[in-house]
Amino acid sequence: MDHVLTQYQSLEHIVLENNSEANVERLRQAFDYARAHHGSQMRKSGEPYITHPIAVAVLVAELDLDTDSVIAALLHDCIEDTDSTHEDIAHLFGDTVANLVDGVTKLTRMQYTSKEDEQMENLRKMFMAMAKDVRVILIKLCDRLHNMRTLQFQTPRKQKEKSLETMEIYAPIAHRLGMQKLKWELEDLSLRYLDPVGYQEVEQELEALTQQNSEFLSRMRDQIEQRLKKEGIQCTVYGRLKHIYSIYRKMYAQSKTLREIFDIYALRVIVEDISSCYNVLGSIHDMFNPVLGRFKDYIGTPKPNGYQSLHTTVVGREGIPFEVQIRTWKMHQTAEYGVAAHWKYKQGMANSNLGTEQEFEWVRKLLESQQDTDPDEFVRTLKVDMFADEVFVFTPNGDVKSLPAGATPIDFAYSIHSAVGNSMTGARVNGRIVTFDTPLKNGDIVEILTSKSARGPSRDWMHICKSNEARNKIRQWFKKERREENIVTGRAAFEAELKHAGLTMSAITASPELLDTLLKRVRFGALEELYAAIGYGGMSAAKAVGRMKEELTRLGRLERQHADRQAMHASLSAGETVFPATAKQTSAPRPRRSESGIIVEGLDNCMVKFSKCCTPVPGDPVVGFITRGYGVSIHRKDCPNADPARRKPEEAGRWVEVSWVDGEQTSYHTSLEVSAKDRDGLALDVAMALSAQKAKLSNMSARAQPDGYAVVILDLVVKDQKELTSIINKLSQVPGVLGVRRATG
Ligand code: MN
Repeated sequence: MDHVLTQYQSLEHIVLENNSEANVERLRQAFDYARAHHGSQMRKSGEPYITHPIAVAVLVAELDLDTDSVIAALLHDCIEDTDSTHEDIAHLFGDTVANLVDGVTKLTRMQYTSKEDEQMENLRKMFMAMAKDVRVILIKLCDRLHNMRTLQFQTPRKQKEKSLETMEIYAPIAHRLGMQKLKWELEDLSLRYLDPVGYQEVEQELEALTQQNSEFLSRMRDQIEQRLKKEGIQCTVYGRLKHIYSIYRKMYAQSKTLREIFDIYALRVIVEDISSCYNVLGSIHDMFNPVLGRFKDYIGTPKPNGYQSLHTTVVGREGIPFEVQIRTWKMHQTAEYGVAAHWKYKQGMANSNLGTEQEFEWVRKLLESQQDTDPDEFVRTLKVDMFADEVFVFTPNGDVKSLPAGATPIDFAYSIHSAVGNSMTGARVNGRIVTFDTPLKNGDIVEILTSKSARGPSRDWMHICKSNEARNKIRQWFKKERREENIVTGRAAFEAELKHAGLTMSAITASPELLDTLLKRVRFGALEELYAAIGYGGMSAAKAVGRMKEELTRLGRLERQHADRQAMHASLSAGETVFPATAKQTSAPRPRRSESGIIVEGLDNCMVKFSKCCTPVPGDPVVGFITRGYGVSIHRKDCPNADPARRKPEEAGRWVEVSWVDGEQTSYHTSLEVSAKDRDGLALDVAMALSAQKAKLSNMSARAQPDGYAVVILDLVVKDQKELTSIINKLSQVPGVLGVRRATG
């Protein structure tokens, strides 16, 4: 019988031992298929290539993974190294097997060049994100383990490369999956090539120590075994094989001598249940002196990757400290095989109370999800989607970039450098030209095409990109490079927003002071700067307009209050009265103040003032003018200032219809011009006439005109036009008076 067949049969044996109902027909078929496809391919060792897939399948079977995984392991190099295809395998062995092989192939194709720590972490994450199904990772780890075990046939350069990769990618992943046994072997194998001298030193010293103390260790083991047997505790006790790399690290990284390392000597006690663990601990602390601070309860507080055990270090009569690890069989399986222990130990885990460290959250989820589901269901649903919000891609020279899920070539370009993004003219993914909005996938190799004459980013990019980094850099570019353009687009956006808010440009630019105040409110010095900022996206037009509108409202309120006060002063000194249209008098009544008696059409509750130029009184035909911030000013229709022919066209909208209402107890200021032949006693006669009419005079002034004439100005407080008319009639009868007329400005 040939060697290959013998090797295969031992695989079949392991599979059947794990599961007597396993479909070995399919397994055999897969073996034949792989063997036929690899044909005469040889390994560096000179063996037929097929021995490698069989060896990997054996490792997978030893982890007790399902038959699909073992078959996939047999076929794992077919797509990569032979003319076999995904369709072919799917047709013969089903989709599950084909997908597993596909996953392993993808991981095989990934190029890992040694990078800084941050890069390595991204590579590890990408590795796991790409795998999707945890079985793909397990098969790939077994593949790597076998390659490491047969690394002696490779060139020294290849040995170093593979070892570094194993140390930096594969071992940490095995660790995260809680697969301590596999991790240790990978690390020890790598160390052998990375630091052959250091490895040998540790190995030799360890060997010497072990020989020297093997008697001591077996004596301790016997003592413990006897004591526990006496107490009726079922247990297995054995001396633990020490992992060379961890000692190497302690010696070189922590500069300790071998004698300073406490856990060189270690015994492991494996029992049936958790309560036995604590009983054993009690017995051991009773037999030996525990070393202070060395007890750790990883049962109560498991390690983030699910590891559980009690650790204690004790000193015997010989004065040599040694570590004891106490755990149940279940914990033991989890410690050795991690995630894979699920298949190995199908009863699941009881009392799983795992760590919550963020980094290991996904392992926790994996392990937790084992509890309630049956094994097959577990396998089907076990997807490695822990990095769903990230995507990992390569630069052409093998750097890994971590981007938000859904990221596009734009995000990638800006993650390299803003100059790359700004001069981007195209993008290639895995060698093919793609559009800028193409979502990137894990493991994609992305190349950005740039040109010095590139026009720079387009505004759309800000909506296409997924990362804030890209968005900010694009914004920066627009801020700097496209000021003119920004001003134009910003202005358009601003004006549209103004219109939307019911404002006009002239409302905010009414005066330079007003504009200045409004710009200050949005923290800009000039309109252009504001436009530019809106243009590049530094401020939204809606926000700018919103704030300006707020400010306008505030100013309007202030000005009205101010105007109110001013008007009060003015009316006291110059005869003008300002009335709040609806406000009732709250303080003690003053003769000069009263309700306005005016209704302004279409505007309620507005401030009204009677214009100084024509001093209207009730009964006069009147018209209103909406002033800026001073309410509505009321003019007589015959006032020259209200003459429709003289109104400014841009103020046409400000003229409003107003009308008088019954204003009881209302008094109005008005003025009359009396022209007369100047003579002695004229002023006295006028005053007498007014007094006879009970007219209220607030001010009287007279000025001489040329040719012996005079003009007397009378400021009066009247109730209405009727009263005014009778005053005018009376004055007209005063000797020497030539005419009496209403004053107009
Ligand atoms: Mn392989």
